[in-house]
Amino acid sequence: MSSVRVRMAPSPTGWIHIGTARTFLFDYYMAKQQKEGSLVLRIEDTDQKRTVAGGVESLIQSLKLLGIEHDEGPGVGGAYGPYTQTERTDIYQKYVNKLLASGHAYHCFCSEERLENLRKEQEALKQKSRYDGLCRNLSPEEVSQRIAAGEKPVVRMRVPENETVSFEDLVFGRVQFETSEIDEQVIVKASGIPTYHLAVVVDDIEMKITHILRGVEWIPSTPKHVLLYQYLDQKPPIFVHVPLILNPDGKGKLSKRKGNVAVLDFFREGYIREGLVNFLSLIGWNPDPRVAHKDEIYDIAYFIEHFDPKRIKRSSGRFQVEKLEAINAAWIAKLSKEELLERVYQWIDLVVTDNVVDAMRGVSDELIEKREKYLKLRAFLQQDEEKSRELLGIIQQRVKKLPDVFDWLAVLFTDVSFDLEALESVVPEVEKRTEIIYNLREALEKLDSWSQEKWEPTIRALADTYALKHGDLFMILRIIVTGKRISPPLREFMELAGRDFVSQRFQKCLHK
Ligand code: GLU
Repeated sequence: MSSVRVRMAPSPTGWIHIGTARTFLFDYYMAKQQKEGSLVLRIEDTDQKRTVAGGVESLIQSLKLLGIEHDEGPGVGGAYGPYTQTERTDIYQKYVNKLLASGHAYHCFCSEERLENLRKEQEALKQKSRYDGLCRNLSPEEVSQRIAAGEKPVVRMRVPENETVSFEDLVFGRVQFETSEIDEQVIVKASGIPTYHLAVVVDDIEMKITHILRGVEWIPSTPKHVLLYQYLDQKPPIFVHVPLILNPDGKGKLSKRKGNVAVLDFFREGYIREGLVNFLSLIGWNPDPRVAHKDEIYDIAYFIEHFDPKRIKRSSGRFQVEKLEAINAAWIAKLSKEELLERVYQWIDLVVTDNVVDAMRGVSDELIEKREKYLKLRAFLQQDEEKSRELLGIIQQRVKKLPDVFDWLAVLFTDVSFDLEALESVVPEVEKRTEIIYNLREALEKLDSWSQEKWEPTIRALADTYALKHGDLFMILRIIVTGKRISPPLREFMELAGRDFVSQRFQKCLHK
């Protein structure tokens, strides 16, 4: 069996759709399953409108965040380069000449205007828009003359009449198309630059790709590619079309309107690599029940071992945000305190650093606000990293996404108000409440040292004096110290936050 060679073939737009990321993960698993497997990164930039400055670096950054490293391509080289399509024009030219010589492609001189009118006519007749073949049978002499006279033709592929084109897909089985449904696609533009359809076929041949994993939306293009393989006497690779990921409500392809879709945005939102990889790999795919885990928590090594493209489902999968959060939380909970601190720093770096996507869509006020907040968090964490690790340790089980760290710890470095309503509900009478708070402060200040063993009995005794449930007095203390009813474990938090901090909080609270 020959080694698996798979490819990721994005346009250099600078960002990766989260659905495409899933396909790339599947590519990665297939390549890594075999000792000799290779993952190629190829930049498909024949449509220059989609090229963005810095786009390739930014794509690679997103791949790295996911833990995907390519074996060949930009930045690493390889035996089948160059790996950027606009640098491969000579290679395509050879193939175009071959197709022209064998009559499988022809020059077309139709103007944009004519094609536009044709489209409109077909639309009016409710016909599928396709080329009508006007230039299909021009004589070689006419073609030479017109080119010599300065006309700039495109090249189209020829499609035979009344035939069936079919291919085997690992997910969808046998797929067939009648040639009457296939347009005589432009394969070289008037500028001399090939279109995606030609370049993708040539590159997959030249780069010896064995499996093409890509989104299901490419199925209608595949018969064109299959014809080109035939014309070039090549056996096509194995096709693996991966179904869509749908919006959380199950309606339509996961889209920007319903939330973020760029990989980088998910990292900026505070999801971690292990969580995203685990979650994405389970959309539209699941492991063989014999090796499945009940909790659905899997690491990348597991997927490399057990991924089988034949188990990709045909139906589209929904993007379930709650599931992503739960899986992410499970992975955050597994990190060591040291690692968690590192992840928080990495995440803040991503949020505060401009990227290609920001350059395109502009930096929103929301992002500016987040940057201010998270820079404060970073400065706080850096002050005393040993303490920061301990603090992270006590909140870790409560963190679903990294920004939750800010919410749990903000009281330590920003002005967090008090949930006064909650305070009132514990002791409704204002005088009694104030008295309790005063006495609580005093009792804590009198302690000769700051530790749980010291303050705990003091608090319990005070609660008895006021005939309060112990839990109620701890609630009052919690709201004073953290501002909220729900907080990190109070005792550990007070110990780490320190005596001065607690006394300042009392000060502020009594002020209110
Ligand atoms: N360049 C195509 C894209 O941007 C890739 C399609 C394919 O994998 O063949 O999605």
